[in-house]
Amino acid sequence: MSMKDAIRQLASETGYVACGITGTGPFEEYRAALRRLQARFPEAADLYRDMEPRADPKTGTPWARSIVVVVRRYGRYRLPAGLARHIGRNYLCDRRIEACPDAAMPKKMKAGLQALGLRVRTGGVPLRAAAVRAGVAGLARNGFAVHPDCGSWINIEAWKVDAELEPDQPAPQTPCPPDCRACERACPTGALFEPGGVRMDHCVAYLSYGAPWPVAPELWERMGPWIYGCDACQLACPLNHGRWEEREPAPWLDNAAGQLTPEALAQMDEETYRKVVRPLFGYIPDTDLFRWHANARRGREAPRE
Ligand code: SF4
Ligand code: SF4
Repeated sequence: MSMKDAIRQLASETGYVACGITGTGPFEEYRAALRRLQARFPEAADLYRDMEPRADPKTGTPWARSIVVVVRRYGRYRLPAGLARHIGRNYLCDRRIEACPDAAMPKKMKAGLQALGLRVRTGGVPLRAAAVRAGVAGLARNGFAVHPDCGSWINIEAWKVDAELEPDQPAPQTPCPPDCRACERACPTGALFEPGGVRMDHCVAYLSYGAPWPVAPELWERMGPWIYGCDACQLACPLNHGRWEEREPAPWLDNAAGQLTPEALAQMDEETYRKVVRPLFGYIPDTDLFRWHANARRGREAPRE
């Protein structure tokens, strides 16, 4: 079996739905896009500048020859009723949650690559751009990577390796129908300001857990029911229709579900935060329980569809 076939088999046995290979040449389009965004939105320039080193996969790993890119499908879990109306599905199914059955996948994949005799480094590349170049996902106009069977309910993982492997054919430029703008219309804060252009500092996901506090009132008022993350553009996307398959339980959420309603989060105490919520959602620091309270109170008051 060739090294490439062995890597694909390993990815499939690990639970990934797709695996592709690309080279370690620079991602020039990605770099150019980051620079355009910096010039257009100087107030958010730091966010984009921090991402620039990923444009050159050789940075820090001059020995890397190829990039292995895989797709994890998280859109296969039965989520407790109601949670996905105010918490992003990506976060509910975060594979970094210890009790999530997918938690061990990246470690297993890395160990498997090493067992094939490869030198390996995790990440350090622009994941969505790498997925497109490795042919395992397309890049939709809302900025998400899309797999034909799974929609955008996926995560991309990548490893740089020291073997020169035949690169796969890149995916076509975009999987989006020519006239579709459903994501732009659905975006509550105008973060999708043009096809393919995502203004990170206006994205509700970032505003909910990462933006400096307090959030500007004109954005805060538009965040609606979202307490942690936001799926509005993905829910509106026709490429996602029928792509979430509720075929596996999500036991790591069962005990927590009652504590994750807007009403419960709005008055959560320190102990519940530390024991139940913080182990599931890592982006809001220990010290910022107030942020959960504020997001939840806003979410609780927002009109429900
Ligand atoms: S995640 Fe929400 S705020 Fe961010 S681009 Fe999509 S719809 Fe807009
Ligand atoms: S809503 Fe339409 S334009 Fe936006 S990502 Fe989906 S298919 Fe593409």
